[in-house]
Amino acid sequence: MESVQIITSGSKLAEAVMAESGQNVNLCFQCGKCAAGCPLSYAMDYKPAQLIHAIRLGMDDLVFKSTTMWLCATCETCTTRCPQEVDVAKVMDAVKIIAVRQGVKPTIPQIAKFYRAVLANVKMCGRMYEMGMIVDYKMRTFEFFKDMKLGMKMFRKNKLKLVPSFTGAMRTWKIFNRVKKIEKRNLST
Ligand code: SF4
Ligand code: SF4
Repeated sequence: MESVQIITSGSKLAEAVMAESGQNVNLCFQCGKCAAGCPLSYAMDYKPAQLIHAIRLGMDDLVFKSTTMWLCATCETCTTRCPQEVDVAKVMDAVKIIAVRQGVKPTIPQIAKFYRAVLANVKMCGRMYEMGMIVDYKMRTFEFFKDMKLGMKMFRKNKLKLVPSFTGAMRTWKIFNRVKKIEKRNLST
């Protein structure tokens, strides 16, 4: 479907989202299809469509304090459903990145810590080494006994390996470094 172009003056936040993700939230005409399809909207304080509207209005405080983007699982249902071809999942990522860059504390710190643990793990091992990631996550959150039962169950079923395989680690490390350089260059321009 061809998207309907809506010309409005954008907020600074909408411009920042555009620069980060290439997504123009000003195309949104508030049909609500993204929110209706989102499997996690029941847990969010603002539905995806509401967050998009707040970005357009430049309500930075509301957006940055929202749980919405932190609860987003990047399933892309919203992206697929949007008649205006706004990639809402990318917008969610962009808002998280902008918030963290501006020094805003994540509304759900455990999720930000989970992301960091996963990325550090993949960077080091070249792929996900679950046991290492769990230990790292526990050290970051101090939630040592949370989900212990589940962990034991996974271990018994051989889902958690004791030793990582470093297959592809060098290649992944190079990718991380390349991305870092690109980010640095983009930030300085
Ligand atoms: S990508 Fe995020 S916001 Fe979109 S439908 Fe999935 S969980 Fe909801
Ligand atoms: S589906 Fe697209 S146009 Fe509709 S509310 Fe969501 S972002 Fe806006």
